[in-house]
Amino acid sequence: MIPAEFAYRRATSVEDAIAALADPDAKVIAGGHSLVPMMKLRLARPALLVDIAGLPLGGISDGADEVVIGALTSHADIARATVLSAGPLAAAAECAASVGDAQVRNAGTIGGSVAHGDPASDAPAALLALDARVRVLSAAGQRDVPATEFFKGPFWTALGEQELVTAVVLPKPAGQAGSAYASVEDPASGYPLAGAAALVVVEGGRVVSARIGVTGVSGTPFRATAAEAAAVSGASVGDAAREDIAGQDVFGDSRFDEEYRRHIAAIVIGRAVERAVARAQGGAK
Ligand SMILES: Cc1cc2nc3c(=O)[nH]c(=O)nc-3n(C[C@H](O)[C@H](O)[C@H](O)COP(=O)(O)OP(=O)(O)OC[C@H]3O[C@@H](n4cnc5c(N)ncnc54)[C@H](O)[C@@H]3O)c2cc1C
Repeated sequence: MIPAEFAYRRATSVEDAIAALADPDAKVIAGGHSLVPMMKLRLARPALLVDIAGLPLGGISDGADEVVIGALTSHADIARATVLSAGPLAAAAECAASVGDAQVRNAGTIGGSVAHGDPASDAPAALLALDARVRVLSAAGQRDVPATEFFKGPFWTALGEQELVTAVVLPKPAGQAGSAYASVEDPASGYPLAGAAALVVVEGGRVVSARIGVTGVSGTPFRATAAEAAAVSGASVGDAAREDIAGQDVFGDSRFDEEYRRHIAAIVIGRAVERAVARAQGGAK
């Protein structure tokens, strides 16, 4: 449990961090809650650690059309941000509140979470449902990657080796909207066995659009498109969710087998939709 030897450099600016990433053996470290365990297990052996924790990439800004969450914002700060929790982007705050324990939420960052690409992490569900973009920067410039294109597989994302995540951008939904995140957690780790976030828009008491993101179930977080269609048509969301999950290569292990995870996933999809609709209609929190 001792990492291989590495050099350490504290980045003095975002540009300095980007320049350091030109070294193919360099890796940035933010909160260290995923990277340090990987290094201790020698699953990661960066020759140079570039510490970005002191850079001005934290904080949440509330714009006219979108909310921008800086990459270094902790899960704890996202969970208590009323700009998220009090409005139609509540799923993002709820998702952050579901991460690990208080220590992990205080040290772990949203940028580190998305860059790590752990298919068991909570955040991708909200990012998919809320139509988020991951903002990345490199020497070549800035680009925004839609969440639907960012998560590619287990610990595999669209992030290039020389790119830095600088923010997660959440567009403000138009109309009478509500969102929610529901999960069932592994009591040993706090990671979701299955987590689902839903964003719905209602008009005249009817759901007119729905986006649902699912995480923890298979190697790549995904949108539950059949359940989205059911939420709009009034068909059974639970039945449609089972259809969505049937198309997935679902995780299973000796404690939580595949069938159990499928069952749980359909339940959390249903709960997320139900709570998102209630919020959009101004009802239950
Ligand atoms: C005990 C425990 C329980 C946990 N439970 C949960 C849980 O229930 N749900 C959940 O979702 N997560 C959970 N986590 C994971 C936790 O959320 C992540 O470890 C954390 O968010 C990662 O952020 P970090 O800042 O610590 O990243 P780091 O560990 O510093 O970095 C992780 C990876 O991302 C890269 N990286 C970091 N920041 C950037 C950036 N801005 N740009 C580019 N690359 C970057 C690093 O190079 C590294 O590869 C748990 C972790 C622990 C240790």
